[in-house]
Amino acid sequence: MAKKGDMLYAWTNDAEIAKKAELGGAVTGLWKYALESKMVDAVYAIKKGKDLYDAQPVLITNPADLKDTAGSLHCGTLLLPKLVKKYLDGASKMKIGVTVKGCDVMGFLELAKRKQINLDNIVMIGVNCGGSVSPILARKMIADKFGVDPDKVHKEEIDKGQFIIEYEGGHKGISIDELEDAGYGRRTNCRRCKYKVPRQADLACGNWGVIGPRAGKATFVEVCSDKGAKLLDGAVAKGVLATEPANPKGLEIRGKVEGAMFKLGDKWRKKDFTALGANMWETINKETSRCIKCYSCIENCPVCFTAADALTKGSLMVKPGELAPNPMFHLRRFAHISDTCINCGQCEELCPMDIPLALFSHAIRVEGDTAFEPKLGASPYKN
Ligand code: FAD
Ligand code: SF4
Ligand code: SF4
Ligand code: SF4
Repeated sequence: MAKKGDMLYAWTNDAEIAKKAELGGAVTGLWKYALESKMVDAVYAIKKGKDLYDAQPVLITNPADLKDTAGSLHCGTLLLPKLVKKYLDGASKMKIGVTVKGCDVMGFLELAKRKQINLDNIVMIGVNCGGSVSPILARKMIADKFGVDPDKVHKEEIDKGQFIIEYEGGHKGISIDELEDAGYGRRTNCRRCKYKVPRQADLACGNWGVIGPRAGKATFVEVCSDKGAKLLDGAVAKGVLATEPANPKGLEIRGKVEGAMFKLGDKWRKKDFTALGANMWETINKETSRCIKCYSCIENCPVCFTAADALTKGSLMVKPGELAPNPMFHLRRFAHISDTCINCGQCEELCPMDIPLALFSHAIRVEGDTAFEPKLGASPYKN
């Protein structure tokens, strides 16, 4: 019987899923069992749309459709919790299995605290996350740095510190450090992120630590809750999934890689926050002066559930039609969300005026974390 804290190598016995999966296909295999056994009514995951820059959320009720969601899309920067709140009634009416990155987990926990999501009805399989790449910047990066037409690329992966593409006529890898020094690579919030193994999900799955003959063919699974243990045991008993204990050397390597990622996150925090300068409020004022008040930063923030139009009603600070908005609009927003900002990057990525919003709220949150509990990524709400 699996239990919280167990570390395993796992792989699916379903040939169709195995063919499409990123590694051992454990994530998709587990969802297949969860749907077939009715542990969940539906699975909410990501699938490739038109091309690899087009990650789409999909709600699946037929286990046969799950194969479409297998594989990792590193240019998939969606955040699922607010979509579950908005379009799936916050999981109040159905049991939903969700594949989550660290920022998704934090978003779920924040919305659950605000009673917008029913966590009892959510099963989370987490994927380790070294970072994701904005699809718009990815296209530009592939054209400028790789010298390849982005429409000719049919596969991308991040492996051993490189962003690697496969395209008609070849494959090419460039180190992430080199790409980031040139202003490409992972989203800036991802560079600062230190939530690499999502242990507040029910299971945490990844490739770090899979070594020896199983390398590239198995998924590393850490059991993080009783719910996760039950899911894993059920899938193994049904023969959907095979497992073996993780190689101890692999465990050690996984720990070292996670530690190195923390250090890298700290390096980027220092760099980005220092560049903000001593007078952060002046910088915020200057940057936000080009705001066109589209409210996208409010609509997409997982820690804010104010309806954007409610702000315009009876508010002296946010007057309809006033452009650029009164600086109080932004100060009010930062005051409202920064103490629980999870650095998911949605506000910044979806801002049509490219205002570095997540940088500001993350800097404020990190400063707040020096004095207050819980620290970012360590909500005591679950586990
Ligand atoms: P599969 O059976 O292939 O299932 C993959 C699951 O991931 C599916 O449910 C799919 O819907 C979901 N998915 C795909 N793209 C996204 C996305 N953009 N956002 C949310 N869900 C998505 N592992 C590491 O050990 N180190 C890393 O640095 C690392 N970085 C990652 C970065 C990203 C952006 C992603 C999405 C994953 C990363 N992983 C990393 C996890 C790894 O790539 C595999 O997802 C994991 O090992 C599970 O493999 P599998 O074969 O069992 O998954
Ligand atoms: Fe991954 Fe963290 Fe970026 Fe989310 S914020 S995509 S968990 S690196
Ligand atoms: Fe202003 Fe950008 Fe927010 Fe839109 S997303 S309201 S432009 S700061
Ligand atoms: Fe995410 Fe931005 Fe909201 Fe912070 S303020 S939680 S980075 S959307």
